[in-house]
Amino acid sequence: MLKGLRRLFETVAVLALIGFGTKARAAEDIQLVQMPSVPEDLSKEVVYDGSAAESEKALNQNQPEANNLLKHPVVAIVVDDMGVNQARTKEMLQLKGALTSSFLTYGAHLKELVESARQAGHEVILHAPMEPKGPASLAPDTLKTEMDDAEIERLFLQMLQKFDGLNIKGVNNHMGSKLTEDKEKLGVVMSLVKERGLYYLDSKTTSSPVARELAQEDGVAYAARDVFLDNVAEENAISERLTQAENIARKKGYAVAICHPKTPTYKVLKAWLEGLAFNDVRLVHLEDVVAIANVQTENTNF
Ligand SMILES: [Zn+2]
Repeated sequence: MLKGLRRLFETVAVLALIGFGTKARAAEDIQLVQMPSVPEDLSKEVVYDGSAAESEKALNQNQPEANNLLKHPVVAIVVDDMGVNQARTKEMLQLKGALTSSFLTYGAHLKELVESARQAGHEVILHAPMEPKGPASLAPDTLKTEMDDAEIERLFLQMLQKFDGLNIKGVNNHMGSKLTEDKEKLGVVMSLVKERGLYYLDSKTTSSPVARELAQEDGVAYAARDVFLDNVAEENAISERLTQAENIARKKGYAVAICHPKTPTYKVLKAWLEGLAFNDVRLVHLEDVVAIANVQTENTNF
């Protein structure tokens, strides 16, 4: 309770400075009605290439100064599917700055990669595999609607356990167009997310409002994906989506973009990060967007 109050107070203080309080509105109102084909691809390659873990210290050049954060629209960029394809994960870990890396649980060298991510300035969250509607190659620990509540709880706790001591901040769904529509099963996940003091990022692989409703009912800090950057994994297309994310942030104060460890994505983000000093938009960790989004939602509930 005290923790919650303190968090609320801090967020309100930040918001007052940002000046977003006057145009408070629920994130969902401004969701782009864009449900592109879901990037449920996942490389099967799990080969570790043997090179030393990234040891370069974080430059954090792109971590915004507190003052800038208060004056500028903010974007969180979440890199999903991290930790399985070792080479492509390491490529993304060369990007220094306030990105948010969402790790699957079952890749090799999880702890080393998470530590590298943190050294690169990334926030780290759990990418929890959930059952999709369509046929797909499923992760070994996918949560399925056919499981009973106890099984969902056991599997999800097992995922969290792999991040013990790694200080993850939140959870988002990998795939999940089917499970995230199942209020009972997702509810089991959501109550554990709450218990651990984590936030929930709705990847929105379906237009279902169940995740948002559960988060509101359970008092879980919640944010939703606005844009997928690399459904079309070509540099031009990715740049366009990135501009779209910036424009959403200019309009409502913040935006959440999701991308994947793909070389064209890496190239576009590298150039974008290098140009951030000249951009009115700031890159922030998802935790900062979650704080802003939840105060806006709370305001609309009064
Ligand atoms: Zn995923």
